[in-house]
Amino acid sequence: MFEHRMSEIDDLQAALALLAWDEQTMCPPRGRELRAYHSATLATTVHERIIDEGYGEAIAELSANGAGLDDAKRAMVRLVKHDRDRMVRLPAELVREIRRQASRTNESWERARAANDFAIYRPELERMVELKITEAEALADGGDLYDALLDAYEPGMTVAELDPLLAGLKAELVPFVDDILGRPRPDTSFLAGPYDRARQEHLTLKVLADFGFDFTAGRQDVSTHPFCGGPAISDVRMTTRYYDSLEPGALLSSMHECGHGLYQQGLPAAYVRTAVAHAPSLGLHESQSRFWENVIGRSRPFWSHYLPYAADLFPEHLAGVALDDFLRGVNAVEAGAIRVDADEVTYNLHILVRYELERDILARRVAVADLPEAWNARYEAYLGYTPRDDREGVMQDIHWSWGEIGYFATYTLGNLYAAAIAERMRADVDIDACCAAGEFGPVLDWLRERVHSAGNLLPGDELMRRVTGTELGHEPLMRYLRGKYNDLYEV
Ligand SMILES: [Zn+2]
Repeated sequence: MFEHRMSEIDDLQAALALLAWDEQTMCPPRGRELRAYHSATLATTVHERIIDEGYGEAIAELSANGAGLDDAKRAMVRLVKHDRDRMVRLPAELVREIRRQASRTNESWERARAANDFAIYRPELERMVELKITEAEALADGGDLYDALLDAYEPGMTVAELDPLLAGLKAELVPFVDDILGRPRPDTSFLAGPYDRARQEHLTLKVLADFGFDFTAGRQDVSTHPFCGGPAISDVRMTTRYYDSLEPGALLSSMHECGHGLYQQGLPAAYVRTAVAHAPSLGLHESQSRFWENVIGRSRPFWSHYLPYAADLFPEHLAGVALDDFLRGVNAVEAGAIRVDADEVTYNLHILVRYELERDILARRVAVADLPEAWNARYEAYLGYTPRDDREGVMQDIHWSWGEIGYFATYTLGNLYAAAIAERMRADVDIDACCAAGEFGPVLDWLRERVHSAGNLLPGDELMRRVTGTELGHEPLMRYLRGKYNDLYEV
């Protein structure tokens, strides 16, 4: 019963993932309306299958004699129990109400953004926040509300751990950003283009293939917001989007999604259709995308190899651009308003703003009505930038409109994990030499062996401890940033 049901649920979720990919890439506009029903029916079926009492009894029986199980089976029982326990604590009516409210809040968010008027968004967001507080209270069982929501994205992580981690990062990052911003702004004009789209696609696909992405087990298409999903480790669906510019543009975004995709393709094939053939957390998934996008894709050795290639493809923009100038351009640091356009130095300050505000909202220290002001005050304090309006301020992200509160911290965790993993990897692999040669086999093999193939056999924090040999801290990320920007700017 247990394994059959677990695989059945995994299959249904795979179908949902494929529908979600299709909706963003191929689905014609008129197909969307019925698609919402198809997805909702499947999602409801998944929910029913999970909370089914017979399944609960099978899980309880297996967890009671955990000692008799092998490691993989024990991990499966732990994971399935974790998800099911969360679900059964939530009244079905609340789950439905949050789903309905998500559509309403998201719709109001879109209208509010178009009109640049927070007042349109505010009442719906207020309702969503109240529902999420109710949800968190049901899940927390007297514990911390933020922990209860974070647990859906980063199981096991708590604010007791996050608070000092992020405070330590903030204390070093704010003056570091300040220092860099005090220097002359590098020239980025050669990145603006317009870069020919077909040649961008060629360059992007070459880099992904060099990274080791298996195009017989995945593909890349175009969507408005790039993502990586798909139904299986042998069928990974990545998307990208083309701009006229090289950066921000398709290439770096594709490298990011490819990091997710390589992780998915490297998950343990022996455990497909089980809870173990997944990543332990969103933060760990993000560590892989950040690693390939930033540690590899914005590094000097990488561009020492690929700039001549890119200059041959785009002589009209890149002929004669020196490596040093290119690197300063592609790593330019800017105090801006928009998180998704942020460089890797300021990025985590954008996350800090959201994390602190989410904590304040859940603790009722900040009301939704006061969010725009609280948002802008923090941007001013951490980034020295005041958003011009709420569209580039508090209304820029989609997450809260969907009820995804407690999610943002996983982005910074991904950066912290990526830096720690890279630091440890350097003891075994000459990453720079791999980049300079455009041959990433040793890098990917290392990740496959230590991170990807572990799937979800261990909780994320345990896996990270095993991979890096240390406790998680902000130091590896700061060492990485200081090393890199010292090279670029002599900071
Ligand atoms: Zn990502």
